[in-house]
Amino acid sequence: MQCPTCASEDTIRAEMVYDAGTSRINTTTTGAGVGFGRGGIGVGVGSAGTTGVHQSRLAAKVAPPAKPTGQPWASLLVVGILAIIISRIVDPWASLIGVGIALTVVGVAGIVFTVIRLQKDWPKAYEQWTHLWICNRCGAAFYV
Ligand SMILES: [Zn+2]
Repeated sequence: MQCPTCASEDTIRAEMVYDAGTSRINTTTTGAGVGFGRGGIGVGVGSAGTTGVHQSRLAAKVAPPAKPTGQPWASLLVVGILAIIISRIVDPWASLIGVGIALTVVGVAGIVFTVIRLQKDWPKAYEQWTHLWICNRCGAAFYV
């Protein structure tokens, strides 16, 4: 593919750059602890795993569009429902019901909105990203 900026043929698909610069890491951290108590000495060994994705700076630059997440909306919904429940149980906090209903409505709307974006907008953005090319000579990014 020819670069529209410098006419170089030295171009690569963003998808290729992204895949090459992204590697999955999996490390295990092991820790040991010794505790002194009235009953004697206790020894404990713990292990914690770290899983993640390591990205080169270029790979991060050419990353595909982020998938919309409904997580914040779901949290809002949970808080809203809790507020409604509390307002019904704890008498002095009865006025919380207004806040609870508002949060619940916003949370549900947010989740619906996220689902619509996931089904309509995100696949479109992702499909567009698969047409993104990067020039190795001048660094220009362009769509084909
Ligand atoms: Zn170029």
